Amino acid sequence: MKYFYSKKLSTSFLYPILFTVFTILILTTIYDAYNHKQRLMNALAEQADSLLNISASSAQDAFWSYNDESLKKIGDALFDYKEVIEVVILDENARIIYKHKRNTAITHQSYLFPRFVQQVYKDTQKIGEIQVVFTTYYLNKAIKNEVLSRFIQTIIVNFIIFVIILLLSRTLTKSIDEIDEGVKAFSEGNVNSRIHVKNNHEIGELAYRINRLFDTIIENSKKLSDNYFTLQHKEELLRVAEERYRYAVEGSNDAIWDWNLLTGDYYISARGAKILGLSENELMDLSTWNSFLYPEDKASFEHFHAGFHHEPDSYREFQFRIIGKSGEIRWLFCRGKGILDQSNRLIRVSGFYTDITERIKAEESINQLAYYDVLTGLPNRAMLFQYLEKLFTSPNSAVTNNISGTLLFIDLDDFRTINDTKGHVVGDQMLVQVAKDLKAEIKCDIITRIGGDEFVIIQKDCDDAQAIKLSNEIINVIRAPKVLNGYEFNLSCSIGISLFPKDGSDIDTLLMKADTAMYKAKDHGKNQFKFFEQSMNDQIVHKISMHHDIRQGLLNKEFILFYQPQVEVETGKVVGVEALVRWQHPTLGLLSPIHFIELAEETGLIIPLGEYILRTACAQSTEWEKTGYKNISMSVNISAKQFNKKTLVDDILKIIDETQMRTDLLNLEVTETVAMENLESSIAIMNSLKEKGIVFSLDDFGIGYSSLTYLKTMPFNYLKIDKQFVQSVQHDNYEEVVIKAIIEIAHSMNLTVIAEGIETKDQLQPLINYKCDHVQGYYFSPPLPKNEVEKLLMRHLP
Ligand code: C2E
Ligand code: CA
Ligand code: CA
Repeated sequence: MKYFYSKKLSTSFLYPILFTVFTILILTTIYDAYNHKQRLMNALAEQADSLLNISASSAQDAFWSYNDESLKKIGDALFDYKEVIEVVILDENARIIYKHKRNTAITHQSYLFPRFVQQVYKDTQKIGEIQVVFTTYYLNKAIKNEVLSRFIQTIIVNFIIFVIILLLSRTLTKSIDEIDEGVKAFSEGNVNSRIHVKNNHEIGELAYRINRLFDTIIENSKKLSDNYFTLQHKEELLRVAEERYRYAVEGSNDAIWDWNLLTGDYYISARGAKILGLSENELMDLSTWNSFLYPEDKASFEHFHAGFHHEPDSYREFQFRIIGKSGEIRWLFCRGKGILDQSNRLIRVSGFYTDITERIKAEESINQLAYYDVLTGLPNRAMLFQYLEKLFTSPNSAVTNNISGTLLFIDLDDFRTINDTKGHVVGDQMLVQVAKDLKAEIKCDIITRIGGDEFVIIQKDCDDAQAIKLSNEIINVIRAPKVLNGYEFNLSCSIGISLFPKDGSDIDTLLMKADTAMYKAKDHGKNQFKFFEQSMNDQIVHKISMHHDIRQGLLNKEFILFYQPQVEVETGKVVGVEALVRWQHPTLGLLSPIHFIELAEETGLIIPLGEYILRTACAQSTEWEKTGYKNISMSVNISAKQFNKKTLVDDILKIIDETQMRTDLLNLEVTETVAMENLESSIAIMNSLKEKGIVFSLDDFGIGYSSLTYLKTMPFNYLKIDKQFVQSVQHDNYEEVVIKAIIEIAHSMNLTVIAEGIETKDQLQPLINYKCDHVQGYYFSPPLPKNEVEKLLMRHLP
């Protein structure tokens, strides 16, 4: 670049200007000199002319009179003019009369010597001739001086112009040089250098602009470098995130998938191939994946993806099955999310597949347990309730569609005797046989076993006559002799019948009325059935009197608490107790809760009773803390009505305040059905009490819905496996597998597992094997009154 500009700006325009001016001046000088010479020559000629004329006229007489003397004088007189260097006067015959040449140096010089000839006439006759030679010496001298002075002028003018231009270009090029220096310094990295031009014309303006340009460049490059560092930092974060993501994907049990809707590319992590039983690189694209889908789930798989087009950035979940390479069916849980571009267009969908086969299996087992009677395989009480609830509350329910039908309550007569005399095993076998026979012979909508020897049958579109026919059929099936272990047994039963909608359109009423009718039938001897009648209200009357008694009992402080110890499996120490209420009835003696809790719940008396129980338990806990039985947790059962009471949280906090109980020792037991009834408010209640340190147990797990899905969403700390379930566990049987699964799943949800109703060592062993945390049951201790439980606690003091 430097060389490109190596020719100085000054030289590049100074010399041409100088040359031009010089040339112009020289040319004008020459032109002027020529003109001047011309003028002088003309003047000379004119002067010679008039001189000769004057001489000729004065010489006329002298010629005429041949006065040579006069002619000589005339000739001499001509020499007064310094330009005249020679005069010749001739007569009419060209004889020289006078000839004189000026004797000076200039005559010898080689100048022009024009010769002027003047004829002298007398009338028309020539009488003589005068010749004068002039010198151009003076003329030339004048011209020379003129040219010289012009030339000097030219030199001076040129010099002045030169100086002016020089000065001008100096200032101009100095500014440009400064700009050049500045730019050079800047471009060589001296970013703080600036151009110092002090003038304020265009160059100063230019320098100012360039300085601003430097500032902008520095500012921008600073921004750029800032951006670069941020970018570098982000890149690093991205790299770390990507690495973390990759480790997560590689280490995860889930298959990660990503479907680019623009390119159609479908990525699925190596785990996906593994789930299908393929090697890592066998699974490449969506169509390969699709070919493994369980045929019936194909449509819902497509539906799942289509859903993203309606709600692009929503999270969507669903479960589906695949058939692995080796033919086994696996359940997958899929969760995905749509990804949008800047214009909110769906461009990708990605998510993960989790293999939930084991969980589904466990849930199916639990479901089976929840809705089916373990012994007979018939639907259980929960299923009956669900069935009737659907019938009465669904949009096409019995109530709205006037569906009629009957509910038959069947109770085996004297079954207890068989149990007591022949043992539980035979009793159980008998029940299995009855269930089998009923299932085989009776055509109805549902047959359920709701308790020990109680069965309930529902038949829709069934009038009185049909109900009678059905009852007789049932009686005949049950009375048919049954052979077990070589013995023949004759059974009988009593049936209570309620009709819907006549007797009611809700489960409780229909069951209660059929139950009442059943007792009436029993009173009339064996193999009887009875329709419910209004007059059968004895039961109800009984309930009313019990209601009165409970109220009275509360006033009289007839309710007392028993405490059943809870033992930590690992240490064998008693770590807590469950408070269980008993009623010291004035006439009936000590009553267990099965005789009054349900009634108290039905009549709402559970609210004051529950409050009394909680207050007593909390006060007991505080007393134990004071007397040295420290850190014993206190479990208290909370009933449905209590749990749904709006002021529950405040009521509990008030009691805690009154009794000064250590909140972290309080463990509230709630059943699943209660907690699930109003999921959101349950969660809110539990959370606000948990904030105070109170913990929650899910009671009776294994006989209700036992839904792990709901359990996940609720903030329980403990899971209590129901005694019915614990007691059905035997080595290597189906229940053992399920109990193992329950404990594992509960642990994976950070729940502490308590098993209740342990009566034997055999029931305890599998629980120890599967790392159940706490145990409770007659094997350790029955529920005991305060004094007795204290003796037991004493033994466990550290
Ligand atoms: P739950 O909450 O499941 O209480 C455990 C029941 O199992 C107690 O019966 C207890 O005595 C019994 N149990 C403990 N170990 C064994 C065992 O090894 N084998 C057998 N077969 N049973 C065992 P309980 O005291 O008769 O209470 C029955 C139910 O009454 C309780 O079931 C609970 O739902 C309710 N209940 C008891 N006390 C209260 C209370 O204070 N408030 C409320 N709302 N309900 C209560
Ligand atoms: Ca309980
Ligand atoms: Ca329980």
